[in-house]
Amino acid sequence: MPQDPNQVKDHAVLFQEPEYQQLFQNKQQFEGMPASEEVQKAADWTKTWEYREKNFAREALTVNPAKACQPLGAILAAVGFEGTLPFVHGSQGCVAYFRTHFTRHFKEPFSAVSSSMTENAAVFGGLKNMIDGLANAYALYNPKMIAVCTTCMAEVIGDDLGAFIDNSKNEGVIPQDFPVPFAHTPSFVGSHITGYDNMMKGILANLTKGKKKESTNGTINFIPGFETYMGNLRELKHLTSLLGVNATILGDNELYLDSPNLGEYKMYQGGTPLDVAAESINAEQTIALQAYSTPKTRDYITKEWGQKTAVYRPWGIKGTDEFLMALSEATGNPIPEELELERGRAVDAMTDTQAWVHGKRAALYGDPDLVMGLLQFLLELGIEPVHVLVSNSTPEFLEEAKALLAASLF
Ligand code: SF4
Repeated sequence: MPQDPNQVKDHAVLFQEPEYQQLFQNKQQFEGMPASEEVQKAADWTKTWEYREKNFAREALTVNPAKACQPLGAILAAVGFEGTLPFVHGSQGCVAYFRTHFTRHFKEPFSAVSSSMTENAAVFGGLKNMIDGLANAYALYNPKMIAVCTTCMAEVIGDDLGAFIDNSKNEGVIPQDFPVPFAHTPSFVGSHITGYDNMMKGILANLTKGKKKESTNGTINFIPGFETYMGNLRELKHLTSLLGVNATILGDNELYLDSPNLGEYKMYQGGTPLDVAAESINAEQTIALQAYSTPKTRDYITKEWGQKTAVYRPWGIKGTDEFLMALSEATGNPIPEELELERGRAVDAMTDTQAWVHGKRAALYGDPDLVMGLLQFLLELGIEPVHVLVSNSTPEFLEEAKALLAASLF
């Protein structure tokens, strides 16, 4: 083999080795690929003005949209709970895409199963796939909870998840008391942040059923939202522990998505313990760290649990100040000196760098809450945002962003 453990070659060099070249040639033949000259000709054409104009002329197609579909967000929420296996009712290809996407992004193994619906199920309904799928998932992967969401296919034919799960339990493939929360996640509505919201609401509704008590338990719930920077979750734990907050993070996927390499594979890493999540209904209040990925969940908590909810984005100085002051007020604990020092260091770094960053122009793009947080931070640095693009814009976002920009001195 051309690869030698004592002298590991980069893929660009490695793929020039005769073994790989032979492999590519065989593959070309097997897949009926056009000749290399043809491929090169097409590649060159993609750099021409004609190709550019064709792309800009498109109206009914988005190329590389800055968003993904609902089930992707749903399974990100699901792995934030202890021993939870995401189960996607629909076609296998969608789930392979979600797993690949997350595995590539986080560089961690990401487990999610599918009911593998095919043409038959599309015509006759996916009940049998759901029953067999739940039976296999329960028997093979030993989860503590299975969180079910849907792909486009199941939504288009109108499969009823609640009824299907009840049927599966009645068939005895999973125990009656085994938690199987679900969320319908049609991908032709909203995006990954909508799916996150739907699944978070589904899981909380399932786990807290019948758990409401007369008095609160003194805890504060935190919902991170569709968060892809695990350092932010660690920082949330750092801040709440320094402030002495009795915190419950709902959907704590930090360890799952950034797990240490200890030489042993664990399918379920960390996550909010299910009994702790069940108690979230008796918390003092729930704080979401994102607004646009949690509207249904917050509405549910307010109306069904009768609990106070709030949104704080601890980004930059102002956002973090507001967050910490709210926690200080809620707990009656003063801001510890360690946090004052951390804040002072951050302000010092911003002051020291202002000669380089002030007045610079920036373009921002991403999910609405990420963009709002960054927008606020950039304005604090004196940077001028000139282009702002978000994955799921709403009139509320537009209003909030415009108000923030209008309030800036620069
Ligand atoms: S948009 Fe629909 S079909 Fe495409 S990956 Fe998402 S769920 Fe599957």
